[in-house]
Amino acid sequence: MGGYELALDGIKEALKRGFRVTTNTTLFDGADPKSVRAFFDEMMELGVEGMMLSPGYSYDKAPDQKHFLGRARTRRLFRAILSNRKKSWQFNQSPLFLEFLMGKKTYACTPWGMPTYNVFGWQKPCYLLQDGYADTFQEMLDSTEWGNYGTESGNPKCANCMVHSGYEASAVDHTFSGLRGLWATAKAALSTKYEDPDALAMLNEPVKPVHSYNPLVQIDAGKSQLEETRA
Ligand code: SF4
Repeated sequence: MGGYELALDGIKEALKRGFRVTTNTTLFDGADPKSVRAFFDEMMELGVEGMMLSPGYSYDKAPDQKHFLGRARTRRLFRAILSNRKKSWQFNQSPLFLEFLMGKKTYACTPWGMPTYNVFGWQKPCYLLQDGYADTFQEMLDSTEWGNYGTESGNPKCANCMVHSGYEASAVDHTFSGLRGLWATAKAALSTKYEDPDALAMLNEPVKPVHSYNPLVQIDAGKSQLEETRA
């Protein structure tokens, strides 16, 4: 039995026992948008309450760079997946963050928006990076050079990041920033179809699963693979 089947059995059992179940899916390069959409159908039919999505985080020191999505590819993948959306799909996320992933919104990172606290303290600047720890949240706020983080900072560690850790907080902040943000959120929550014939056509493009041509461990990845426009 594979990992997916095991997880599926776990979900079914949890639902049978009356638990509320949500899923959290991280997508990497080579993900097949059609099968991701079929996965959404399957989760909804099972009775899962809501789904969360995020692109894999492209950390420049990770040994497996070829499996990470650049920003341009992330937007293309999520546009294919989330356009022409089915009414039955329930997402447990900010609708504006989903629009950000589809390339319909632009946000700067809010690294302190989803802070991590663990046995070492408050992790700086976000749960994805480990640039030190602080004893208190206030100390983390005061002692972190926030200008060094986020895609716009030029920090290669942040070059391709579109992860919910930094960007969903920005989307939520947009929602509560004023009437325009509230209106954009209401519109995105109520009008979920996102009709897009080009995105529909993308679903029929051939998919080359990354693992079929790329070994899992790559320790010689160069900086060129971290470009914003990697396509
Ligand atoms: S862009 Fe933001 S969330 Fe992503 S790694 Fe950098 S600081 Fe963390």
